[in-house]
Amino acid sequence: MTAVTLTESPSGRRGDSFLSVQDLHISFQTEDGVVRAVDGLSFEVEKGTTLGIVGESGSGKSVTNLAILGLHSPATTTIDGQIWFEDQELVGASRTTLERLRGNRIAMIFQDPLTSLSPYHTVGRQIGEVYRKHTGASKKEARDRAVEMLERVGIPHARTRVDDYPHHFSGGMRQRVMIAMALVCDPALLIADEPTTALDVTVQAQVLDLLKDLQDQMGTAIILITHDLGVVARTAHQVLVMYAGRAAERGTVREVLGAPRHPYTWGLLSSVPKLRSSVDVPLTPIRGTPPSLLNRPSGCPFHPRCDYVQQADPGLCTGQRPDLSPETGHGDACYLTPKQKQEIFAQIKDRL
Ligand code: SF4
Repeated sequence: MTAVTLTESPSGRRGDSFLSVQDLHISFQTEDGVVRAVDGLSFEVEKGTTLGIVGESGSGKSVTNLAILGLHSPATTTIDGQIWFEDQELVGASRTTLERLRGNRIAMIFQDPLTSLSPYHTVGRQIGEVYRKHTGASKKEARDRAVEMLERVGIPHARTRVDDYPHHFSGGMRQRVMIAMALVCDPALLIADEPTTALDVTVQAQVLDLLKDLQDQMGTAIILITHDLGVVARTAHQVLVMYAGRAAERGTVREVLGAPRHPYTWGLLSSVPKLRSSVDVPLTPIRGTPPSLLNRPSGCPFHPRCDYVQQADPGLCTGQRPDLSPETGHGDACYLTPKQKQEIFAQIKDRL
């Protein structure tokens, strides 16, 4: 899949991109102070492709995607920057505009379908209600569409199961129901937040394959939020590695997972179990903990945990925030020189 190489328009939006997030800042007012959850994030998504967003808890992955959906409380949240979706600027868009887009042009699936599906209504009614709300279809048309969607996501005996309640389905089947509900209006963009974390490995693979097949059929773009690099490798075209509300690295899956350049990406890869490793070889977790977003470190936010500060430039690493470079293609936010990154990667790649 192609990397994004688009030109900047006067509005700050990039050329023809389908979803374009530019210099996004999101902060929350809390009792302890202002939490800066997202701090100058930019990325693009192309039609029909999957962007995997990875990072530890608190890296800003989910917060960013809730902003795309307009689901933050305006009373406690400040959002600056631009989010262009098709021809619509979403930052500052009216509630009516966001409600028209949600569930229709942009849909979302969450980690736990049980918290997203109502236990009191049949799955057919819940899928049908979304369809009726956005299309004005009759009850009969909505029910037929629900059956069609259940068949499409591989629920056996869809015509009878449409009248079942969520608790009648297994975890994997419930996630399929959620996918059916999310895709019922043919959205252009699906945001999937840890969609398979609660499932066992076999069912996880089935659900990921299903998402891929549906993307091929329907041309839906997907933002897949996950902490699991295996899920990204299996499903995504592009990857964005986030740390402390900023982009640490981005590129195609082959670039970022095959030739990673950022010390944080190296750390993520070295903490993942590998099939080829002996069980006696311990994993290497990233030392330290993610920074407090109430009191962010100066300079590169990763510097308190980074093993390469001395090799880069301690003054820069601790004093000045690195930006993602180059602006398009495979980019990373780190002061190590390209030669240093290559040499370090060559030394450590056998344990990544
Ligand atoms: Fe480490 Fe410095 Fe690179 Fe940040 S900029 S990742 S602290 S070497």
